[in-house]
Amino acid sequence: MRQLVILGATGSIGQSTLKVVAEHPERFAVLALTAQRSVTAMLQLCLRFKPRYAVMSEQAAATQLQHQLQAAGSQTTVLAGTQALCDIAAHPDADVVMAAIVGAAGLLPTLAAVKAAKTVLLANKEALVMAGAFFMQQVKSSGARLLPIDSEHNAIFQCLPASLQQAVCTHQIHAGSLQQQSISKLLLTASGGPFLQTSLHEFPQITPAQAVAHPNWTMGQKISVDSATMMNKGLELIEAHWLFQCPVEQIEVVIHPQSVIHSMVQYQDGSVIAQLGQPDMCTPIAYAMAYPERISTQVPALDFSKLADLSFSSAEPARFPNLYLAIEACRQGQAATTALNAANEVSVAAFLAGQLRFDQIAMVNAEVLEQCAMDKAIELEAILALDQQARLVAEKIIARRSS
Ligand code: NAD
Ligand code: MG
Repeated sequence: MRQLVILGATGSIGQSTLKVVAEHPERFAVLALTAQRSVTAMLQLCLRFKPRYAVMSEQAAATQLQHQLQAAGSQTTVLAGTQALCDIAAHPDADVVMAAIVGAAGLLPTLAAVKAAKTVLLANKEALVMAGAFFMQQVKSSGARLLPIDSEHNAIFQCLPASLQQAVCTHQIHAGSLQQQSISKLLLTASGGPFLQTSLHEFPQITPAQAVAHPNWTMGQKISVDSATMMNKGLELIEAHWLFQCPVEQIEVVIHPQSVIHSMVQYQDGSVIAQLGQPDMCTPIAYAMAYPERISTQVPALDFSKLADLSFSSAEPARFPNLYLAIEACRQGQAATTALNAANEVSVAAFLAGQLRFDQIAMVNAEVLEQCAMDKAIELEAILALDQQARLVAEKIIARRSS
């Protein structure tokens, strides 16, 4: 029985994780669930999965949850705040930690799990984009095991030889490791999001409701907007760079609107190995939860007689400037990706709040990259300081634009 902590349990990834847990009660027990402030959703989850702990990052939400759980006769202990999130992620009884908080808020709890040598299932890509070098050093030195949940990275992981998989999990790899295994390229597939065919003239009028309506995947709001701008693929390219120690030049983004191929590995002999499946996160989650075994999910098998058409193209820079900003930031190094991630969180939140146009998200991100001082942000304190600085710069740019 593996004891599971789910950071971000009320979110899209959290819910899919609990679906897998519910199908395999003989394998997984829920030690703790965490959320920011959604008391109603958390109450339901606690009553159903009976975790030992529930952590709300906001104190008021924790107080409310505690009252409601008590009234329902629940035994779950409620904790509050960021330190409690970190403590739970590092709890001595936890075996597996699903890191599924969205954004930079996930960094410290995820790092706490890494430092405590847990098996960490990484959905929170922003943690790696923000702190890649530092984060991977911690994986290497702590003895933690890191498994990718992002469908593309999970697909690539599945397409690697077993010996390389082991080295990726424990970060015992270096810049030449892929080449030594005769791998020439990682091919990251992207759906292209809801605006792949939209006329560029219409981009300024795109609304938040349109942007979060992804054609293939059901996800949280922030990642849905990132998918629409293709910043998501940019963040994923940076994530792949760190996870697989792959130079930017050897990662290619391929638009594949059907989302059937979840990513591919190209070998030097001309072979390309791909992982295919339905666009349902339960598959990569179940794979990582049971690794190196495989377990069943409710995800239906692909029906090849109905897959009439798989198409591929490349991403136009004018349509997806955020992707190219991210590629450039990855080339520049860790500090640039820290600043870009922070800028993007602020600009996406402003777009969702109706304070910024869709096409202005990339403009704000680009301006922040120009304005931030990019010293080598390798240590945690410097990373957190740069993250804060980039957020302030982004907020000023947005305020100036709207006045
Ligand atoms: P979501 O918005 O649906 O859920 C986010 C979760 O994090 C919620 O439980 C929320 O309560 C919690 N949270 C939010 N802000 C917090 C804060 N400040 N402090 C503590 N907790 C906080 O997001 P999601 O779609 O589930 O995505 C989660 C992560 O997984 C993101 O990093 C995303 O990029 C990544 N991811 C998601 C998908 C997907 O299909 N949804 C796929 C690949 C990767
Ligand atoms: Mg993905």
